[in-house]
Amino acid sequence: MSEMDQQRTLTGGCLCGKIRYSASSRPFYPHVCSCPHCRKLSGGPMMAFVGFPLSGFAWDGPGGEPAWYATSPGAGRGFCGDCGSRVCALDEGSDAVFVTIMSLDDDRVFVPRNQHFRDDAVSWLPQVPEPKAAV
Ligand SMILES: [Zn+2]
Ligand SMILES: [Zn+2]
Repeated sequence: MSEMDQQRTLTGGCLCGKIRYSASSRPFYPHVCSCPHCRKLSGGPMMAFVGFPLSGFAWDGPGGEPAWYATSPGAGRGFCGDCGSRVCALDEGSDAVFVTIMSLDDDRVFVPRNQHFRDDAVSWLPQVPEPKAAV
């Protein structure tokens, strides 16, 4: 059984604890992204995300929803206005949110299976292996 099959509730949040979430919906598509937006936003070489359908997902910390910054029209990036932690990406009208894997309370649950914007990736880290073609 892979981590994708689990149906337990996963929790996470920002560094200071103001922004918290819980997700009981089925996670999907853990991946990293090394696009220019992710590199600038994070201050690191890439960001790691895993998707959760919004049904079963809740912002349940004292700060409610995160603050938002749109990297392009309709592409919201959620962060804590107090500590600055990046917690998610949420496209306008989408029925799923991509939380940052490192914002999960257990950030070792997911192993990224793909990497976006490989051509923009730094040269000094290995890349996530190319996914095997479906047969
Ligand atoms: Zn915070
Ligand atoms: Zn990106």
